Formats: sequence, structure tokens, C-alpha cells
Amino acid sequence: MRVLVTGGAGYIGSHAVRALSRAGHQPVVLDNLVYGHPDIVEKGLKVPLVVGQVGDREVLEPLLRGRHPALSGTALEGKPIEAVLHFAAYAYVGESVSDPAKYYRNNLGDTLTLLEALVASDRPLPVVFSSTCATYGIPQQVPITEDHPQAPINPYGRSKWMVEQLLSDFAAAYGLPSVIFRYFNAAGADPDADLGEDHDPETHLIPRVLDTMSGREPYLQIFGDDYPTPDGTCIRDYIHVADLADAHVLGLERLLRLREREETLAAPLIYNLGNGTGYSVRQVIETAKAVTGRGLLAHVARRREGDPPQLVAGADRAHRELGWRPRYPELETIIAHAWAWHQKRHQT
Ligand code: UDP
Repeated sequence: MRVLVTGGAGYIGSHAVRALSRAGHQPVVLDNLVYGHPDIVEKGLKVPLVVGQVGDREVLEPLLRGRHPALSGTALEGKPIEAVLHFAAYAYVGESVSDPAKYYRNNLGDTLTLLEALVASDRPLPVVFSSTCATYGIPQQVPITEDHPQAPINPYGRSKWMVEQLLSDFAAAYGLPSVIFRYFNAAGADPDADLGEDHDPETHLIPRVLDTMSGREPYLQIFGDDYPTPDGTCIRDYIHVADLADAHVLGLERLLRLREREETLAAPLIYNLGNGTGYSVRQVIETAKAVTGRGLLAHVARRREGDPPQLVAGADRAHRELGWRPRYPELETIIAHAWAWHQKRHQT
């Protein structure tokens, strides 16, 4: 299957490209490289990379037809793309508050252009979309299941929620087949340690803990220890990035099977992706100490705005309908893989 992966030079997208290749599919990456890493695509994944914006029709249309110059000499040359995994998005919550236009233009506006291109032919191309548990806002109860009300509390979450609405309307009106994955906290790295997380700036807890342990950062701030949780710090559901990648392959294959049977979907298929187990910030720190054998300087700082006390996934639907079984559910393994990647990437 020839698959366009937008944002394939980024953290989750690059792992999905690897999973697609391993499952026998043929991915091509479209990435604007604002936050993505070309070396990972070219050396780590060895698939064609098109540098461009998802909302640029002059790039998108030839690419979907297999006629983009970057495809010449590859197995994708001259052949139309059959499905899309759409990861490309900006994902800094704080930046989305200070510069919402950037988020709505890129995450929403460009996605509208992409979806229009997907429904331009008689047979709309299936799409798998990266959404987030941030679309739920402050949860009313945990675990959070897919039918929990959605009330995102920042422009990043709202941009993702709005795309969910687009997908729903496009399914009803044009028969666009789609899967929406709502990720909980993506973490870890490829078990072979040649793909992983490399954000600049880095805001996520696990890489920040590892940065502090390796001496790249002087200390860690714990954002609040007065939450209504057992140790007072926030609880999150960390899910291994390779398990997220596997879910994408399963979601895509589900859409393709429905298509082969000529079944149409009146609405997107929606799945939470998480382990269903929550760990507090302090538990993450303690686990990282045990895994790496290193210590760190940590001090309690003010709460970070917009952080819900507890986010834990109810992901039974993905298990049941997709047969998704996370291979690395243990926090120790997630952190061990992140640490191996960290040491390799930063030579620490
Ligand atoms: N966190 C923290 N210190 C940091 C980074 C994160 O205490 O340097 C906390 C953050 O407040 C949240 C949890 O760790 O409760 C996970 O944060 P992250 O940014 O990794 O993911 P989020 O849940 O915000 O998507």
C-alpha cells in the first residue's frame, strides 16, 4: 500500500513510517521540517522525503498522483497514493495560546486543504488522523472513554477538535473514510534506539527528566505538588511511541478492509490510545532513577497552566475493534528505550 505520511519527520510520524515499512507498505513523507528532522527520514527510515506544507496544493496534488519529482526513481513513481496518515501539526500548548493563528492556519487550515484533495476523486482516500486527549479538556471522570464530552481548553486542543469535526462532516457528506486516534502521553523511543524524541524546545516530562540526569539541564521543575492525587503531582498515561505506531498500521488496515468490502463509513472511527494506567510526576522520576541508575536535582515549581490533575485512557475500544495490544506497556521499558535513544542522540 502506498501511503503518504504527513509529519513523518517528527516524533510519532517517524515511528509510524518505520512500522508501515515493516508491515510491507510503501510510505512517502511530507514534512515542512519546522520541527521535523530530515536526517531521521533519510538515514533512519530510508524513504522519500518531500519538504513542503500540507496546505500547498502545488506540492500535494502531484504527490498524491505519484508525480512529484522527489518520487522519481522510487517504487512510488507514477503511482497514486492509496491512503494518508496525517501527523503534521504544531503541538506546543503554550505557543498555541500566544500565537493561535499559527495553530489554526497550520493544524486546521492546511488540514482542510488536505481533506479537500482526498475527496477530489470519485473514491475518497482513507485518512488516519492524529488527535489528542487534549480534546477532552478537564476530564469529568477517569478513565476517559471516547464518549467523554469534548471541551478543549487551549487553541492546540481546539485545532485538533475542529479537525475531528471536519472529518465527521466529510464522512457524512463525501464518504471520506477516517480513523481518529486520541493519543494520551506519547513517550519512549524505537527499541533499536535509532528513532526517538528530539524536540526543541523540549517540554515533555520524560525527556526533561533524562536531560537533567545526563547533565544537559541543571535541574527539573515539578509543576505543582498540590493536586488532588496521592502524592500531589499530576498523573498521566504514558504510551510507548512504537505501540502508537502499531495502532496506526492497524487503523489503516481496518479502513482498507472496509474499502475492499465496499463498505462506507457514515462517521469516523474514533479510538483512544493509552495503557489505562496512570503514573504521577514523582513516580516517573523514581522509575527513571531506577532505570538509569542516575539521580537528579528536582524542585517543586508553580502549577503549569491548563494541566488537568489526572489523564488516564480507557482504550478498550482499540483493543476490541483493532486487536491492538501494546507491546511495551511498562513504564520501565518506555523510559529504558527513551534513555537508550537519549544517550545515542546526545552522546551522553
Ligand atoms: N511536567 C513537570 N515538569 C516538566 C515537564 C512536565 O512537572 O518539566 C509535568 C506536567 O505538568 C504534567 C506531566 O509532567 O503534569 C506531563 O507533562 P508533559 O508535558 O510531558 O505532557 P502533557 O500531559 O502536558 O501532554
